[in-house]
Amino acid sequence: MWNFSEATAMTTYNLAVIPGSGIGHEVVPEAIRLLESTSLNFDCQTFEIGYEVFKKTGSSVPDKVIKKMRNSTQACLFGATTTPLGIQGYKSAILTLRKALDLYANIRPAKSLPLKNSFEGVDLVIVRENTEGLYSGMEFELPDTACSVRVITRKATERIVKYAFELAMKRSKMLTVVTKANIMRKSDGLFLEVARNLAKDYPEVEMKELLVDVAAMNLVMHPQSYDVIVTSNLFGDILSDEAAGLVGGLGLAPSANIGSNYALFEPVHGSAPDIAGKGIANPMAAIMAAKMMLDYFGETNWANRIENAVLSVLEKAKVLTPDLGGSSLTTQVTDAIIDAL
Ligand code: NAD
Repeated sequence: MWNFSEATAMTTYNLAVIPGSGIGHEVVPEAIRLLESTSLNFDCQTFEIGYEVFKKTGSSVPDKVIKKMRNSTQACLFGATTTPLGIQGYKSAILTLRKALDLYANIRPAKSLPLKNSFEGVDLVIVRENTEGLYSGMEFELPDTACSVRVITRKATERIVKYAFELAMKRSKMLTVVTKANIMRKSDGLFLEVARNLAKDYPEVEMKELLVDVAAMNLVMHPQSYDVIVTSNLFGDILSDEAAGLVGGLGLAPSANIGSNYALFEPVHGSAPDIAGKGIANPMAAIMAAKMMLDYFGETNWANRIENAVLSVLEKAKVLTPDLGGSSLTTQVTDAIIDAL
């Protein structure tokens, strides 16, 4: 469902490439190397954002970067940025991009993989609202008190739930709406009300309602019972890391941030300072994010070939990074995937 366009012969895709920081600089170039090994054409512009840019310009993502991305690229491949704690005025770079480019739908698939520690029969997608809620970092302080504001609007909820229903229609017509509406009666009450109203437009979709605590428990006990899950920003962030853990871990989990006119693709993981610079980061999440980007461009043939190549490297289990029990380097894993293409 994150594929919107029809590919035409000889298209050149204009990409913004943002490695970010930490292992972003190790995995994003590998995803680009893989894309360049296909017969497709890419024109890549690399942008620097994050804390180093903030120190020079006062902004983690300067306006001119956003303008250039919007005006001269169709989509972005993003790595991750470290968000330093306690820096006055610093705003997370990825949050800034999601807001500025109005990337309202965060799509996080989790599918069983040929690995010992991957649950069998899992094939679910978490559709996470990406622009508001607790995750948007609206906070203020009062004496001895810190407050985070959780804004849920009808407009943002309608478009994310509609997106989820449309996705459910293309999959197995099952949608689970996850809230904490019994406690957050106003904000999640609105989220649920919108979902119930929209359900009337999708009579073929079986819609279930779950509280987030129950949903989290069910996800580890019966992950196969889910197909499409739609939820607010912070719940989606947490549940999607949980789902990634069920099928192999963060080194394998891709995501898409979709807006009406732009899309950004990134691994779910962060900058992983504990392994950065060692050349051992798993490039598969970034490569699968590039695969999602090809789906978005309508290049389903190459997208499927990339997914199959990743699966075949996992199945052979000869060239794996340490997070998957192997001893190979990031670049060796990419080489193996390119060989399997
Ligand atoms: P993390 O995802 O960076 O790392 C969590 C654990 O997973 C670490 O042990 C790490 O080594 C491992 N890991 C992650 N990706 C891996 C890969 N590709 N291969 C092998 N192992 C991998 O999360 P964190 O440590 O909580 O966050 C580190 C920094 O990243 C923080 O500053 C955080 O704010 C930032 N972050 C950024 C984004 C983003 O830019 N989209 C997302 C999440 C976290």
